[in-house]
Amino acid sequence: NYSLKQLQQIDAAHHLHPFTDHKELRAAGSRVITHARGPYIYDSEGFELLDGMAGLWCVNVGYGREELAEAAYEQMKELPYYNSFFKCSTPTPVLLAKKLAEIAPPSVNQVFFGSSGSEANDTALRLVRHYWALEGKPEKNRIISRRNAYHGSTVAGTSLGGMEAMHKQLGGAVPNIVHVMMPYAYELALPGESDHEFGLRAARAVEEAILEAGADKVAAFIGEPIMGAGGVKIPPMSYWPEVERICRKYDVLLMLDEVITGYGRTGEWFAAQTFEVTPDTMTTAKALTSGYQPLSALLVGDRIAATLTEKGGEFAHGYTYSGHPVACAVALKNLEIIEREGLVERVKTDTGPYFAQALRERVAGHGLVGETRSVGLMGAIEIVKDKATRERFEGDGRAAVVVRDHAIENGVMMRATGDTMILSPPLIWTRETIDLACERIVRALDLAEADLRR
Ligand code: PLP
Repeated sequence: NYSLKQLQQIDAAHHLHPFTDHKELRAAGSRVITHARGPYIYDSEGFELLDGMAGLWCVNVGYGREELAEAAYEQMKELPYYNSFFKCSTPTPVLLAKKLAEIAPPSVNQVFFGSSGSEANDTALRLVRHYWALEGKPEKNRIISRRNAYHGSTVAGTSLGGMEAMHKQLGGAVPNIVHVMMPYAYELALPGESDHEFGLRAARAVEEAILEAGADKVAAFIGEPIMGAGGVKIPPMSYWPEVERICRKYDVLLMLDEVITGYGRTGEWFAAQTFEVTPDTMTTAKALTSGYQPLSALLVGDRIAATLTEKGGEFAHGYTYSGHPVACAVALKNLEIIEREGLVERVKTDTGPYFAQALRERVAGHGLVGETRSVGLMGAIEIVKDKATRERFEGDGRAAVVVRDHAIENGVMMRATGDTMILSPPLIWTRETIDLACERIVRALDLAEADLRR
């Protein structure tokens, strides 16, 4: 058994962390999370935290589900691995693909598996370009995305995403990807512009990009139904139908990235259903297994699948772990749990509305809070210096980090991104868990305010 100090020393000596300032990490030492149950995570010192982020937006059924461990164990004993190359299949990815076709929007019903959301988006990019090439239109290869979007960390994911710092670090993105404005009314709506009007204007930025390139050059538009890592940016309800109308008008494929929003987070199986939008491709990962195994699923519709079948020729792309039998067995059991416990319905009719009301009534009035917003169990708290003018604190997101640190000290794990605090808890949160989280968040805001206005 290692002490915390020993683990921190070994961590510092040998372990590089994702999205981490290593200088700061080494100075502070890592918090070592050792176990978790239900909605709680525990560190090596026994400190209990409500997990307001469901890990990284993924542990939708909560922690400690023995059924998932058993599903993995049984599958490992039977067949730990085989691939779906060589015209082979194994049973669990086949059954999982069938299940996904049942719960997904009817426009997408064929599945390509990977291990991560980044891989799924990489596959989607290639598959869409491959599709247009098979259709005899290889020059229709441009992809339109949004500024501040997050579509993963591989080269393709980073290029599809709209995070400037990531582009800079990449030093040369995949070509022919352009980024338009995001649908974020709080910062980008004009004075007097309604949410509805703003949503239409943000959608028309997609049309302008199509017209600028020429529709015969544009393969697809990609977007997260709700931008997640970019700060839980919830578009007005007018946005997605208008984007879809524009895509159809110019025969541009509509790609949804549901890596965060999939599997119940918004109170439907998928946010496509929440926003009433019909995708041509849909990438999912994370809560597909509730994070118990790495697995992603790219879903595509008959249009793309039929072209692959009719035209033939190899789609020269795939992963060793595409359709991993153990990950797929865990996913099947995870979806069974979500269904059996009615978690999607619970978010839609009970905890989602209660969460929105709790944020509005207990958090939004705080002196540091510009607005709260949420859909289902995905929410954000905007940190501002001045509520009336929406002026931010100096230091580029420093204020939200101060709030986050107090939130963690007060027993709720939250994420800070820019000036936004994010919540995306397990779907097993009850009204009581939401009450407890709000209590802790308000305490953290009070302490942060004392620090920030000192
Ligand atoms: N797409 C979205 C919307 C995401 O939020 C993420 C990860 O947070 C990804 C893609 C990448 O997924 P992964 O980290 O599993 O590669």
